[in-house]
Amino acid sequence: MADNIEKRQQEIRARVKAFAEKEVLPICRDLDRGEESFPLDLYRKLCRAGFGGYSMPGEYGGGGFSNLEFITVIEELTYYDPPTGLMCAIPELATYPLFTFGNEEQKKKYVPKIVAGEIIPSFVLTERNAGSDAANQQTTALIQGDHFVINGEKIFIMHGDACDLAVLFCRIAQEGETRTKVSCILVEADTPGFSARTLQHKMGMRLATTGMITLKDVKVPLENQLGVAGKGFKMAMKTLDGARIGVGAQATGISRRALDESVKFYRRRAAAGAPAEKLYEMKRIIGEMATQTEAARLITYKAAMRQDAGEPYTLEAAQAKMFATEAANFCVDRALEIQSGWGLMGEFSVVEQLYRDQRITEIYEGTNEVQRLVIANSYLR
Ligand SMILES: Cc1cc2nc3c(=O)[nH]c(=O)nc-3n(C[C@H](O)[C@H](O)[C@H](O)COP(=O)(O)OP(=O)(O)OC[C@H]3O[C@@H](n4cnc5c(N)ncnc54)[C@H](O)[C@@H]3O)c2cc1C
Repeated sequence: MADNIEKRQQEIRARVKAFAEKEVLPICRDLDRGEESFPLDLYRKLCRAGFGGYSMPGEYGGGGFSNLEFITVIEELTYYDPPTGLMCAIPELATYPLFTFGNEEQKKKYVPKIVAGEIIPSFVLTERNAGSDAANQQTTALIQGDHFVINGEKIFIMHGDACDLAVLFCRIAQEGETRTKVSCILVEADTPGFSARTLQHKMGMRLATTGMITLKDVKVPLENQLGVAGKGFKMAMKTLDGARIGVGAQATGISRRALDESVKFYRRRAAAGAPAEKLYEMKRIIGEMATQTEAARLITYKAAMRQDAGEPYTLEAAQAKMFATEAANFCVDRALEIQSGWGLMGEFSVVEQLYRDQRITEIYEGTNEVQRLVIANSYLR
């Protein structure tokens, strides 16, 4: 990789480290164990530090940085605390459809406030029966005069419990019309009929909360439609392509941390005079972890660089997401094996939390089984 890119990444890593040491590490373990509620203070600090809109366009207040730089932030934050890395990725995920498909007025109205952390956005696609099968949207926006009237329910929405602006995917239809079109509408959360709650007892990534949203006769002006009616599914899929590279970066951060914790543990055991056979087995595992981590990092950076170069990246994003999250699964599992009893105890080891946080990365932004199909489809075309 070119020297100047590596140098830039080192600078980013140093900035993220300073932020994480000051703002994240002192509180994240307590937040992981506490009641699940959106950590607004930490979120605002992330945004004020410039991490909330890192790759959003500069003319709307964003950092204007490349995708590779952005995923370096995500990887590094995730290294220190996975849910904080996830929390940082969400405004970019939710705002992508807005700054890519929105009109000038919509962008000016919302993007600067999102970047500043004054508006919390959510990407609102999934429903009870529309997860992997995202096209099966049941939420409807009925056109009535100059308004949509929206009814439906959305589930597993990151920051959905705290959001101010829902970038909502649903079906648009005229009264009596049967041919509905999956589309995207901007819905402000203080509109009457919009309600949300935090989903409780999530296995991992607890600090970054997940919500459920109910829409009951929510009246939204027609000008809140984002992009072209009927193109909502394509918009959602394009958004998820980019987001998958970010998940690859989260997974790479988790793998790196699991590896470093394993190396530290090995050294402590070696210093304490552990038997040679035990140290040999740990060494073997560390060798495998290091290789998986490096491969995950490279496949993820490759996808981000293709995106930055304006080349197609659907295949590479799916490969990065699938490979890096499964490498992370391997790494957290092996880190736990190396630390055994110590690794299971959150009191002694961060590996206990990494193990829980990692699992979700294989599911959101499209399960890895779905990624396998995306990858295969691009070879079978
Ligand atoms: C913590 C968390 C955060 C999330 N954040 C958001 C968010 O911010 N916004 C949002 O809109 N959504 C979000 N999601 C939803 C997420 O994208 C879905 O959970 C995911 O796409 C899977 O959908 P599902 O849970 O309904 O599972 P299902 O789609 O029901 O899948 C169940 C199983 O069937 C398999 N499967 C399904 N279809 C196929 C197929 N065609 N071929 C092979 N196997 C298949 C899956 O791989 C899986 O193993 C989030 C989910 C979680 C858990």
